[in-house]
Amino acid sequence: MTPSILYFSPQLASRKAQLQTLLSKYVQSIEWQAVQSIDQSPFLSIVLLAEKDIKASDWPLLASRKTIVILDEWNLERSITWIQKGVANCFALDDEHIAAWLISELSNFTLTPSHQAEDDMLQVIINAIPAPIFFKDHLHIYRGCNTAFCQFIGRAQEDIIGHSVYDIAPKHLADKYYEADYKLLAQGGTQRYEAEVQLCNGSIHEIEFNKAVFTKSDGQALGQVGVMLDVTERNQLIRQLDKATRTDPLTGTSNRREFNLIIHDEFDKRKHSEKKLSLMTLDVDFFKKINDKFGHGGGDQALQLIANWLQSQLRTTDTLFRVGGEEFYILMRDTDIQNALKTAERLCKGMATHTFLINQQSVHITLSAGVIELAPTTDLESALDMVDKALYEAKSDGRNCVCPVFQ
Ligand code: GH3
Ligand code: MG
Ligand code: MG
Repeated sequence: MTPSILYFSPQLASRKAQLQTLLSKYVQSIEWQAVQSIDQSPFLSIVLLAEKDIKASDWPLLASRKTIVILDEWNLERSITWIQKGVANCFALDDEHIAAWLISELSNFTLTPSHQAEDDMLQVIINAIPAPIFFKDHLHIYRGCNTAFCQFIGRAQEDIIGHSVYDIAPKHLADKYYEADYKLLAQGGTQRYEAEVQLCNGSIHEIEFNKAVFTKSDGQALGQVGVMLDVTERNQLIRQLDKATRTDPLTGTSNRREFNLIIHDEFDKRKHSEKKLSLMTLDVDFFKKINDKFGHGGGDQALQLIANWLQSQLRTTDTLFRVGGEEFYILMRDTDIQNALKTAERLCKGMATHTFLINQQSVHITLSAGVIELAPTTDLESALDMVDKALYEAKSDGRNCVCPVFQ
């Protein structure tokens, strides 16, 4: 005969010895197993918990076990509160009724999860809906789901119904679902949010949950029903599109749109930080000549080579943007005007001495640059104006040089 297992929490160790003696007269083969928290006991098992041992993290699982709460002293109010949270019964520590209750439970131990009859009309209808659907009671216990839901999460219906979300999902995800369920039940109405779901093969999907509370005619919340929409592919596409709108297709660097998005964040951060922020603007000298010599395709190739070379010269905290035809910005974080100037000079010198190969021909390219420190007092528009003027100055000074803006 398989022994019935009774799970009990640490504070009940001494009471367990008395109960063991008492119960052994009537029920053979009971195994007692200590648990630190309710999740160490299986679904639908009998768990005896001292009130003091119950943590808030145990609450979601109270209704998915036959949970007995043992109070130090009898208190009807508190017992009812626990029963409303989903426990099966409450007893005072010294109450002998618990022995009778346990014997009754152990001798009629026929607990099975509640099943929807297969020909139940509601079940038949929701099974026909191709999107995963589930519903839970007011204690957040699954009370029903359709075939699509079972297939999606890869579990049989009997491994879902009667269970808490903590029985089904990894804890870090279950915490999120439980929080959302709790909020929805408290506020009523409908709820829409996205969360990750781990399938039984381990893969993670991004899911849009569309949920609503269902109520009795008097308005009392009975539970919630939800439909799941797999938005993994859609979100991947959105991320790809978003990246594409921020990237220059020719060189793969960030584009002006990305600069406009980033610079506002950087300006905000700068308000709360001592760190300096500088900007360099670069324009390729006599680029028209490259186009004239190699054609537009050769010019494109030159732009790619220039961008790659610039990128290879930068720190990870610097960002390169192609903001126009052959014009680039470099945003330099944690950099004051002196260091920005040094970097600009290093880039101009480095570029002038580097040999590029276009159509198997050696090409030398030079750059003109302006640099500015984006001081907290300057607004972006006038800073861009000033650094552009500095760049024109570099051009009129003969090109292949840097002009800083000293404010
Ligand atoms: P400088 O800046 O030294 O005054 O002379 P520049 O010859 O570089 O003059 P400007 O900035 O006026 O011209 C830039 C040229 O770059 C004009 C345009 O035809 C070319 N250009 C702009 N975008 C692209 C591009 O995407 N591909 C190619 N191949 N050429 C481009
Ligand atoms: Mg130019
Ligand atoms: Mg230009």
